[in-house]
Amino acid sequence: MKTFRCTLCGLCCRSSPISILPHEDYILRILANRLGVKYRSRPGYRVFDKRTGRDIALSYVMELVDGRCPFLRQDDLCMIQDVYKPLICRSFPYVPKQVRYIISNELKLVFAKVDYGISSACPVIRQDKEIIMGLMASTPLWHRLYFPQEYAAAMEMEEKRTLMLRLLSKLWISGIVSIDSDRGGVHNIINLYELLRTYFPNLPYIMGLGETLDRIRGR
Ligand code: SF4
Ligand code: SF4
Repeated sequence: MKTFRCTLCGLCCRSSPISILPHEDYILRILANRLGVKYRSRPGYRVFDKRTGRDIALSYVMELVDGRCPFLRQDDLCMIQDVYKPLICRSFPYVPKQVRYIISNELKLVFAKVDYGISSACPVIRQDKEIIMGLMASTPLWHRLYFPQEYAAAMEMEEKRTLMLRLLSKLWISGIVSIDSDRGGVHNIINLYELLRTYFPNLPYIMGLGETLDRIRGR
């Protein structure tokens, strides 16, 4: 059966800012520093912590520089491919179309509802349109069949997002943070991954980032 085959055209590295998770912003900053890459990101979705008066960033957006991802080499290959490639780059063109963060004050719970879809910015998708339509009509598992690797990356993205939100909820239940979606005003911002690492020192290992961080340190 025909599965998705990326042609490494690099279009997705030039089409729009790239949504990443908090631990990825942390990793990419270190990599950019090591590689001398001009990296710029901004917080995506934020919640307010009434206890510290800070915003906690639950996601980030990596900005393009001159219309390109700063990690895209001149030959259109990714310079961090073998060290750490963001999950959304690994799942592309099977990507989150809508991410809704839900806050339950009653349960002291933060969780996300994510809807995935296919990006038509990828030329392979346009080329395989008939195949994809046929698969969609024949099985609800079409995405697993056509995008085996990309689907696995998408699942990993959601596992990591869920894990970090669960740990944030745990901090809320313990009274360490007090979450409010109504942020009002301008506040200092803390990266969720970095906040969690303060309270869960083995977080990199819980998240399966040990090898990645060793690889980065070895660079
Ligand atoms: S646009 Fe599609 S084919 Fe081109 S690099 Fe991205 S995923 Fe691969
Ligand atoms: S990190 Fe690599 S794969 Fe992702 S957008 Fe940048 S160059 Fe492309």
